[in-house]
Amino acid sequence: MLDSTLGELRAALAGRRVSSVELTGLYLARIRALNRATNAFISVDEEISLAQARAADARLARGEAGPLTGIPIAHKDIFCTRALRTTCGSRMLEHYRSPYDAHVVEQFDHAGAVVVGKTNMDEFAMGSSNETSWFGPVRNPWGKDLVPGGSSGGSAVAVAARMAPAATGTDTGGSIRQPAALTGVCGLKPTYGVVSRYGMIAFASSLDQAGPMARSAADLAPLLNVMAGHDPRDSTSLERPREDYARELGLALRGLRIGLPREYFGEGTDPGVLAAVRAAIAWYEAQGARTVPLELPNTALAVAVYYVLAPAEASSNLSRYDGVRYGHRAQQYADLLDMYCRTRAEGFGAEVQRRVLVGTYVLSHGYYDAYYLKAQKVRRLIARDFAAAFAQCDLIMGPTTPSTAFAIGAKTDDPVQMYLNDIFTIPAPLAGLPALSIPCGFDARGLPVGLQLMGPHFSEARLLGAAHRYQQATDWHRRVPSETPL
Ligand code: GLN
Repeated sequence: MLDSTLGELRAALAGRRVSSVELTGLYLARIRALNRATNAFISVDEEISLAQARAADARLARGEAGPLTGIPIAHKDIFCTRALRTTCGSRMLEHYRSPYDAHVVEQFDHAGAVVVGKTNMDEFAMGSSNETSWFGPVRNPWGKDLVPGGSSGGSAVAVAARMAPAATGTDTGGSIRQPAALTGVCGLKPTYGVVSRYGMIAFASSLDQAGPMARSAADLAPLLNVMAGHDPRDSTSLERPREDYARELGLALRGLRIGLPREYFGEGTDPGVLAAVRAAIAWYEAQGARTVPLELPNTALAVAVYYVLAPAEASSNLSRYDGVRYGHRAQQYADLLDMYCRTRAEGFGAEVQRRVLVGTYVLSHGYYDAYYLKAQKVRRLIARDFAAAFAQCDLIMGPTTPSTAFAIGAKTDDPVQMYLNDIFTIPAPLAGLPALSIPCGFDARGLPVGLQLMGPHFSEARLLGAAHRYQQATDWHRRVPSETPL
């Protein structure tokens, strides 16, 4: 049961072969057994989850089931929930209780899903290894001394270790796709504006986007169906007709034009990663897809642009944590200014403080034009590179990350090395594009490799279709991690 797909779980619930209370109990037991070793969850409340499961069973019995009624799901702890605290991985919000649910949480609630807990994450979603969390690092089930990637590391591990069949994540510069790649699961960052950011704690608002994480592309489609849709409470949420993200799961691969950007296949990427990605692309070619060599010349600047713009936006968004309105407040202080300083020095960890410093610097008078404005201009050029590329191809493929999972502690002393992990994931959000990571093999150490698929705006259904066709022919996504056998 723990290894079932969402489709199988929905059929079992509908056919009354299992109840939501039984199913939820099974996953809660798995969390109880594995959370000490993985640290994937920050908050779990079994009573609340089982009460939701009982309500789902009643709904099923009345024949009023929604698309996910009775299905357990884990939410990244960046989504505000009334039922459980919302920490965002920070000491600042360690005891924070939201008075409302995030739009995404509400949507899953309406669809009947059962929340099994809130997952660990890098503090305020800043990180690529889940090591910046106030609640400690998350461990990768493919090697207990390895990072799971970040910032949605807890959600990725929850899915990889079968502690939940599905989870939510958020992606600003790669935080869904990079941990998905490093833990052998699937994660989709939708087109900017497809999923409402209401109640999702803000990091860099022009980039932040929520998306689903699960074990297969076919499972991501019904999850995105539930998450997507207009919400007037987020001014960047798009008003578009509803679509069924599962509608292209039967995508014809013959004639599909797959763009291969030179910049994604150069030096600096592990040979084991490149070999697995190339083998996946060869499979598509064998099905009749055509590869198109391309260039995305400005993507070389993407990491630099991102690490100006994201900290700039973060420094503004995080100014609300002042010890008055939200969260932690220093116990002892001399006056108001001292209270602000001590509160923020105590409440924020080193990486968050670094981002606030960089952000205020690049926005300050005298540096604004040289850094912030320049970065905005290059961001536009990167978007243009993609627009030109998608005139020649239907989707782009390449590695999700330059390496497989690295050791805990290996990059914590060198922020630039850490930032370079995001080199392949940052360009898509800078251009607002949808992008998906799916498992495509293992390196020589037996660690999962991620294949990234990027498409034009609103091509989620096609990306999922292309991924699903591959997953019908391969079983990389079905492998169970060595540290957490079933
Ligand atoms: N690793 C990147 C960062 O640290 C991306 C994080 C994210 O997507 N939230 O900012």
